[in-house]
Amino acid sequence: MAVVVVLDIGGSGVRAARVRDGEIVRRERLGLIPGTVPSQAAETLRAALGSLEPSPTDGALGVAFPGFLDDAGRVLPGIYLPGFVGMDFVDVLGPLMTGRPIAVVPDVAAASLAEAAATGSAGRLLCVCLGTGANAALVADGVVVDLAAGCLGDAGHVVVDPDGPKCTCGGRGCLEAMCSGRALARDGTPLGLIDANAVCEAARAMDPRAAELVNRAGRALGRALASWAAMTFPDLVVVTGGLSLAGELLLTAARSEMRRVGPPGIVAGLDVQVGRCGADAALLGAAIEAQRVQETNSAAGEEAVA
Ligand SMILES: [Zn+2]
Repeated sequence: MAVVVVLDIGGSGVRAARVRDGEIVRRERLGLIPGTVPSQAAETLRAALGSLEPSPTDGALGVAFPGFLDDAGRVLPGIYLPGFVGMDFVDVLGPLMTGRPIAVVPDVAAASLAEAAATGSAGRLLCVCLGTGANAALVADGVVVDLAAGCLGDAGHVVVDPDGPKCTCGGRGCLEAMCSGRALARDGTPLGLIDANAVCEAARAMDPRAAELVNRAGRALGRALASWAAMTFPDLVVVTGGLSLAGELLLTAARSEMRRVGPPGIVAGLDVQVGRCGADAALLGAAIEAQRVQETNSAAGEEAVA
């Protein structure tokens, strides 16, 4: 099976990998300055792809990114990396791929595909991504449910506390404003804990103030899960992204709150686990999508020849 090449764009940089049969066989990483301008963002992407030395025998390219595309394939505003707004990934990366297909997916959709494959879930898997922001996607029978924008829309902006903090989206009390890397950095900074990692590490070290921050974030997640579960009837929930490093500290609070406020018939037996793919979830999921696009293109080509 051909190697597919993948890029995962995130707040900490662009991760690049060659993937064969679900295994990462080579990986590279390029830093990305959050305030970078479009020309620099495009150059970083080209450099990341070039670092993998794509060859004519490679399969498709998969790109996972923390945002959404408009109908013309351009990145919509709202992404926390402003240098990418308006970018057409096919325009930027196509010349390096010499005609091979390019699959572009929201990172949450990519991560959900990888987690569904890793769990062997044949049913309905709700995958929650808690990184710099927050979002969720549903995979049903191996396919990402495309309710809006290639996933469940911007599900991380479900309101979990109408009196909660202002959110970057302009709303108030969204999950992303309560349970995300940015939220924990905001609440941890006055305690000298400058980012979500510092908060999670302090919580694991039994710092009661940090533990309460993680607990509060977990309760917010539990409320979001109760609402999402009522709409999507998942068989299993997995939580991935940087905040999943908080592990049971976060998930115990989330399960408890989900069962306190959610419809018992739906959430009573619903398990919430840490994802199995770790930081590679979006990369591996972009590879699955690239492989699918590659096979669809090949089948269409054979049909045309026949
Ligand atoms: Zn919001």
